[in-house]
Amino acid sequence: MAPQLPPDSHYMQLPREVLIGKQVAPQVGTTLVRLGIRGRALIVTGPKVKDIAADIVLASLNNTGFIAHTCVVEGSTTDQVLLVENQIHELNPDIIVGVGGGKDIDVAKLSSVHTSKPFLSVPTAASHDGIASPLVSMKGLDRPYSYVAQSPVAIVADTSIIGRSPYRLIASGCGDVVAKYTAVRDWKLAHRIKNEYYGDYAAELAIMSSRLVMKNPSSIRMVSESGVRTLVEALMSCGVAMSIAGTSRPCSGAEHLFSHYLTMTAPTPALHGEQCGVGTILCAYLHGANWELIKDVLHKIGAPTTAKELGIEPKYVIDALTNAHTIRPERYTILGESGLTKEAAERVATVTGVIG
Ligand SMILES: [Zn+2]
Repeated sequence: MAPQLPPDSHYMQLPREVLIGKQVAPQVGTTLVRLGIRGRALIVTGPKVKDIAADIVLASLNNTGFIAHTCVVEGSTTDQVLLVENQIHELNPDIIVGVGGGKDIDVAKLSSVHTSKPFLSVPTAASHDGIASPLVSMKGLDRPYSYVAQSPVAIVADTSIIGRSPYRLIASGCGDVVAKYTAVRDWKLAHRIKNEYYGDYAAELAIMSSRLVMKNPSSIRMVSESGVRTLVEALMSCGVAMSIAGTSRPCSGAEHLFSHYLTMTAPTPALHGEQCGVGTILCAYLHGANWELIKDVLHKIGAPTTAKELGIEPKYVIDALTNAHTIRPERYTILGESGLTKEAAERVATVTGVIG
């Protein structure tokens, strides 16, 4: 829980240790001991990653003297969060360890903040920036977008596990990082037009992440060790940018509103980062920025660049472009306060080749 501070003060909550590399998962236990955390641990994980990652973490905790339990959750819903919270009340762990993809990490993050417990993140996929950020998003909550929960005390990102995840998740993570290209432009715009707080440091970190991915599409496409590391480090920087800003602003602009709207309305939505990537092409065009570059990078990475590749009918894309501004009216973006007209939406989607 953030402290009550005098006006114009700023609060930042950052991870204290970050481990990135091959076979670092067995170091979860020693990392916690270094942080002065001992005693009981609760691992929150998903059924698909239990064998490939959670059991390694469990052994690591047992080897360093923890009494550890594992709770397997089925997706990220408020029911699953309640299930974990009940386990936390029963076992009274000293640390919650989230092991899995973005959804498993979100359940661990939310249940830990609700019960005032610290949490450590062990991402097994790099599909979006929630693996390293203080933010959480989940179906069944009162908003379709993410909001601040708490930062992990440490992140242990094992690239040998992340590199074995389905490639679609890696490509989706790239879409979420490339999105910072327009998110930061929207933040600057809101600063100029609405006098919204703007922090150069957080903005530069977010932009640097998008540059890292944009410079290395082929090594990411090959899923080389350096490619996976580039993506994971970029996602970490995004998480840190949000921790420093105390808001998702540096990492989430109109391209995210577009993605959230599709997730809410399309019959078969694509992945968060995939939709954000396509949203970035569209919003870069609206900003008068280099949308062709974004499209080229996403294409080289093998991420979707069209409505067809997202598996979403063009009418939902047009609908999202005209209505996405309504889901978070306080977040001023290039979509403005009244959204695009249908004609303007059709033009941007056609000119950029997203539809047609
Ligand atoms: Zn995102």
